[in-house]
Amino acid sequence: MRFLASAVLLTLATAASAQLDETEQRIAAAVKERSPAALQLLEKSVRVNSGTLNPEGVREVGKIFAAEFESLGFKTRWAEMPPEMKRAGHLVATHEGTQGKRLLLIGHLDTVFEKNSPVVPWDPRGDRVRGQGVGDMKGGDVIVIEALRALRKVGVLDNTRISVIYTGDEERAGSPLEVARKDMIDLAKRSDVALAFEGSIRRDHGGAGQDMASYSRRSSGGWTLKVSAKSGHSGQVFRENYGAGAIYEAARIIDAFRENLVEENLTFNVGTFSGGTQVSYDEATSQSTAFGKTNVIAKEAIVVGDLRYLTPEQGERVKARMREIVAKSLPHAKAEIAFKDSYPPHAPTEAGRNLLELYSKASMDAGFGPIGALPPADRGAGDLNFVAPIVTGIDGLGAHGSGAHTDNEDLEIASIERGAIRAAILIYRLTR
Ligand SMILES: [Zn+2]
Repeated sequence: MRFLASAVLLTLATAASAQLDETEQRIAAAVKERSPAALQLLEKSVRVNSGTLNPEGVREVGKIFAAEFESLGFKTRWAEMPPEMKRAGHLVATHEGTQGKRLLLIGHLDTVFEKNSPVVPWDPRGDRVRGQGVGDMKGGDVIVIEALRALRKVGVLDNTRISVIYTGDEERAGSPLEVARKDMIDLAKRSDVALAFEGSIRRDHGGAGQDMASYSRRSSGGWTLKVSAKSGHSGQVFRENYGAGAIYEAARIIDAFRENLVEENLTFNVGTFSGGTQVSYDEATSQSTAFGKTNVIAKEAIVVGDLRYLTPEQGERVKARMREIVAKSLPHAKAEIAFKDSYPPHAPTEAGRNLLELYSKASMDAGFGPIGALPPADRGAGDLNFVAPIVTGIDGLGAHGSGAHTDNEDLEIASIERGAIRAAILIYRLTR
């Protein structure tokens, strides 16, 4: 049965590839011809450790890719970050022209695997390769380069307007974010469309896998709740002149969040909760301390959580409701909540949906089947979120693998060629 099903798929794929015009067929052929060399480029970049906190390594990977962009007629520069941010900076490559849509292509150079990681950098296993950042996301970086190379080879890169940014701190963005993402935002302001090449996600549809991409996903940010209350002997707790203490007040608040605020596309997780006579929370280490006694009414509490929402309106509405709940303090207690936004939401739009359709059409025409829309909550926030308020974008155009961020991160080697063909066809069509 399995064999029969794949035979049918193969027939469909062959029929569908007739959808590419003659130039597009040459683009696809140019990608295929480079596949062994593309894998070598990937290996070269993966063998250099580029954990976010290893700036030398990140820069070195940046140099490897910069040389490729230069050879394709791009101008490259290194966007430095102030030293106190302890981040390597970003690679920026630009191709000037006057034709078609202005594109911004997004990747990142860093990985979660720091220098002391025990994970073997490059470990080929048949048609897959395991290693540091193979899927997240040096595979995607290579896809961008190979797609552009194919366009150049066929002579259709000329006069296109394409900017590329490979950030050096996607996995642990430098602070402040306004500085860390300024270059990307500036590039977005002069672009019409952003394509991000984080790993493609595959979903099972009746046994056959379908690749999925994102045109919308949620914000990422957090909140800190601080509560203070009247202390006293525990024997007095709940009495009119003492109240319930800080821990009961904090518990009231977070339980009211859970009771009243749960809705689609919204989550607010509580990460830590500490209360007692004296408490502290250190943001840098995510460490809380608490001192208290069972016979003393709790004087302080600190609760730290996250908040993810899909649209700016949803975010504002929910924050206002949270503030209302916080303000209804029990007697002799008072509480305040502070919000910290990290990644803005990538709200769903018609234009985003249409862009995903174009990508799906390119994939089908190239014989790889349609691309589905990933539910917004199924992919965490990423670099594309920062420019989503400015430019129409989709993410997940990168390589396909499994176990990203774990010791078993791996990559399906064929997904480089597949991703590069799809991306090249899409870029070609957008820049006509
Ligand atoms: Zn990534």
